[in-house]
Amino acid sequence: MRIYLLLVLSFLSLVAQAGDPEKTDESKRDTVQAVVLYGEEILFDAVVGLTDEQVSDLRDSVMKYHGANQLTNYISLYLSLKNKSEEELNHYIDSLFESEGEIPYALINQINIFLANKPEKIEFIAPKDLFIGSRGAPIPATEFYPEWKTDNPNPYSSDIWKSDTTLSILLAGNEELGGFQIPHDDVLTSKFGWRDGRMHNGIDIDLQVWDTVVAAFPGVVRMARVHGGYGRVVIIRHYNGLETTYAHLHRFKVKEGERVEGGQLIGLGGSSGHSTGSHLHFEVRFKGVPLNPLSFISFDDKALLNDTLVLKRTKNGFAAYPKGIIFHTVKRGDTLYDIAKAYGTTTYKLAELNGIRRNRYLSVGQRLRVI
Ligand SMILES: [Zn+2]
Repeated sequence: MRIYLLLVLSFLSLVAQAGDPEKTDESKRDTVQAVVLYGEEILFDAVVGLTDEQVSDLRDSVMKYHGANQLTNYISLYLSLKNKSEEELNHYIDSLFESEGEIPYALINQINIFLANKPEKIEFIAPKDLFIGSRGAPIPATEFYPEWKTDNPNPYSSDIWKSDTTLSILLAGNEELGGFQIPHDDVLTSKFGWRDGRMHNGIDIDLQVWDTVVAAFPGVVRMARVHGGYGRVVIIRHYNGLETTYAHLHRFKVKEGERVEGGQLIGLGGSSGHSTGSHLHFEVRFKGVPLNPLSFISFDDKALLNDTLVLKRTKNGFAAYPKGIIFHTVKRGDTLYDIAKAYGTTTYKLAELNGIRRNRYLSVGQRLRVI
């Protein structure tokens, strides 16, 4: 294929500005307006969508047959442009408008075409509503919480979440946020949800008195005191916006206001407060709304199901689920309605996702795609 060069030597001055190590004396020459065509395509269009490696290969093959020339310089320029932020490119366009003499409209146009066609980065792009906490502040996640109280486990009114819709929270996978650890590794003895006519806002994990209990995520201890049925309870506000509760402890190993890391010892297990037998009562809440920890933590794997937690507002609070495709294994007594409710979706959506009728009988052990 023939390569047509309609030169944009202004580009070369950009290479020089960018401090491209490959720049030659040639690249410092004065500029002439032009565009680069590859076959009949504008080079910029032709290479959009190729990986940097493929573009480098193109440059190498041109070098092999024609030696270093303007085209190879332009390809180097393309690679450097490609990795510039939109802001940097816009600044560059601004500087071109201010350039002395004739304004290089063709070049500006090319950069604008490039900007318009710039492929999205393949690496993870944070959605607008993704909350990535910061460890900088002495009180974590003040974006979500109006107050910091040490005498009330749940001081938040529904006013702070009633206008929310859907949001995502980054739980892990970010060095600054730190890691996740299950608070205590043992058998689950009670699940989240309605139990004996009352709501169980957490899960119960079996333990022996004096067993260690650790923080699930890094954060700051909001409460470490005796409180009602919880007995000795530690509540941690995490940088990711969640709050976790560790109840029925025998001993405290942290103080209120103390910063903790994920996996740090915070107490010793016991049976204080309203408890029959020693166990850890563990809650995860967002804005005071209890979430089912099992909807994003795998106790079998001792790990998060996904680094990103999606919270979807429901009538009474939030449905929590890990980002991505999720399957639910049908258990005895499950109905499509219950499953839909648990995952913050609808029976219509479930039927659609699984290609089944809404009144279909569900068999125990069947896997349903729920998200
Ligand atoms: Zn419990």
